[in-house]
Amino acid sequence: MSPGQLAETRIAELGITDPGDIDVEAIAYDAQMLVEYEALEGCEATLVGVGDRAIATVRPSGVRGRDRFSIGHELGHWEMHRGRSFSCRVEDPDRNLTSDKPLEKEADEYSAHLLMPSTIFNPVVRSLGKPGFRELDDLSKHFESSLLATCIRLADIDALPVVIACYSNSGRRWSKVAAHVPRRWWLRDKLDDDSFAHSLLFSGTRTVSARKQPGEVWFENGDAENYEVTEECMPGKAGEVLVLLYLSSPMLDARYDPNVGVRRFNDQGSYVKRR
Ligand SMILES: [Zn+2]
Repeated sequence: MSPGQLAETRIAELGITDPGDIDVEAIAYDAQMLVEYEALEGCEATLVGVGDRAIATVRPSGVRGRDRFSIGHELGHWEMHRGRSFSCRVEDPDRNLTSDKPLEKEADEYSAHLLMPSTIFNPVVRSLGKPGFRELDDLSKHFESSLLATCIRLADIDALPVVIACYSNSGRRWSKVAAHVPRRWWLRDKLDDDSFAHSLLFSGTRTVSARKQPGEVWFENGDAENYEVTEECMPGKAGEVLVLLYLSSPMLDARYDPNVGVRRFNDQGSYVKRR
């Protein structure tokens, strides 16, 4: 069973069908994991387990959704990685999405599914069309999760052709792409001057709603100019911008592009490193 399935099984066993009933402290207590709040140095949450009991300590973030995600994360460790102690920097996708620490990814996946189980989350998303940041913020309040976790979960459920990405002035920090988006679309490493995200990051000018953009603004592919994407951005952590892209439907049918990415074919038909 995957971490996500494990969490969703727990939700199903508890008969929960409404996000308001996802009481993470109670679910943790039921699993013999006590939750305490304390000012921690250098990490956001810790887990110490002895025998069949554990104590999770969470540093209060001031955002209930983040604290809940931290509890879900530690509960994931407790359910899946029993016998070990953890000191976690929860909800740091820059590290967790690119990290080679599989246990941290598993705990994040567990927490995302616990707070936003597919059976409840997916139908709500389907009723929203293509949600922008405002709708996603409402959604995060509805599920009492954080906005960031909600955006990542949106890409994870693979219901919409969405890309969530985070950029700083040194380039792309991380990205999460819905699984059905063809891998041939090669997201730019640096923000294009014409992107709204570039204006937000470098001149502080915010384009409030989602707007159409030529595909080349966001993708390196030579034929990207023939396609359109919808871009919306918002400030992220200090010095970062969060980007929400929706690909237009023709992009989903575009064929394999041999001329983009880290490898391509040479004249003899072999793969060669491109960069
Ligand atoms: Zn952890």
